[in-house]
Amino acid sequence: MNIEPVSQSLSEFSLIRRFFTRQTVKNISTRLGIGDDCALLSLPEGYELAVTTDTMVENVHFFSGTDPEQLGHKLLAVNLSDLASMGAKPVSVTLALTLPNVDENWLTAFSKGFLSLAERYSVDLIGGDTTSGPLTLTVQAMGLVQKGKALLRSSAKPGDFIYLTGSLGDAGLGLKIIQGYYCDDPQAAHKRFNQPDPQIDAGLALTGIANACIDVSDGLAGDLGHILEQSNVGACLDWDALPLSDAVLTYIKDTGDWSMPLTAGDDYELCFTVSPEKAAQLTSLNTDTDCDFCLPLPPGEGWGEGFQKNANRDCPQHIKCTKIGVIESTPGLRLRKSGTIQPFNSKGYEHFS
Ligand code: ADP
Ligand code: MG
Repeated sequence: MNIEPVSQSLSEFSLIRRFFTRQTVKNISTRLGIGDDCALLSLPEGYELAVTTDTMVENVHFFSGTDPEQLGHKLLAVNLSDLASMGAKPVSVTLALTLPNVDENWLTAFSKGFLSLAERYSVDLIGGDTTSGPLTLTVQAMGLVQKGKALLRSSAKPGDFIYLTGSLGDAGLGLKIIQGYYCDDPQAAHKRFNQPDPQIDAGLALTGIANACIDVSDGLAGDLGHILEQSNVGACLDWDALPLSDAVLTYIKDTGDWSMPLTAGDDYELCFTVSPEKAAQLTSLNTDTDCDFCLPLPPGEGWGEGFQKNANRDCPQHIKCTKIGVIESTPGLRLRKSGTIQPFNSKGYEHFS
């Protein structure tokens, strides 16, 4: 029962129909999508379902007045990023929308951002809920992973090398720019903050290779910290090895804020650990001198039509990964910088603290 109607002009049902039922069911696991009391999923033999939820609240996770198309993209991207970090192939999502009012322009742009990204990875929107209240956006995302093959936070081993996809701190820089830092060329940083790319291909390619994996959503130090805690290990990161863009290096030079790339959130790269033996095999396959190794893109077949690989930033055939440190048996996170090794305790963003 709804005490308060969600809409002034459009009914709840016509709103859903108009903005959120574009998709014909296309994913192999979707048996029934939007329209009934529940959606139905069927799991292919030999697979497990990975399930995750993330909420974004106005003025907590995004600024009031954020471009709705970018918001739709980011809401889905942050959820798909959790599936990527487990090595799962995204198949479907539900969307719970709490809206202060029905703004058709806002909904048109929001659904465009959301559904375009869904389309790119053949993800079906299979249901949700629509209510009125303070602007709050929640997605539940479902993905498939081969039984026993999911990448966990708890499986890092002393001696593992630590790697990172892509580059670090660009989204943090995007936030600094919004908050007033002047940057000559803000486009790339803005895009990383507002429209992150979930590293789905990397996650799929890493199953069977990585021991542990996490997506960098709340800052590398804090997120790697989760791997360390759950695996009962420690780590030493090498500051000089961090993959930093020219714009982030300039920011550090200008402000002296060298720890920003380690603590800022929203990068949505994958941080993962690999045993030295496996790493040696991968390095020997490397054809690109610009990174420590390149993961071959995973095969796309069998995942449903339309599944598109990430257009990978500089390297179309591969996913660039940089070795940034090593897992150690002594607990805690350490940083090698300017010839010394110091404890690094800064946590990522935490609610309620
Ligand atoms: P119920 O009252 O049985 O929960 P609703 O009236 O809330 O069903 O929703 C009708 C259908 O529309 C359901 O299939 C539901 O999953 C779907 N739905 C509702 N809101 C959304 C949304 N924001 N996005 C996608 N599907 C939605
Ligand atoms: Mg409902």
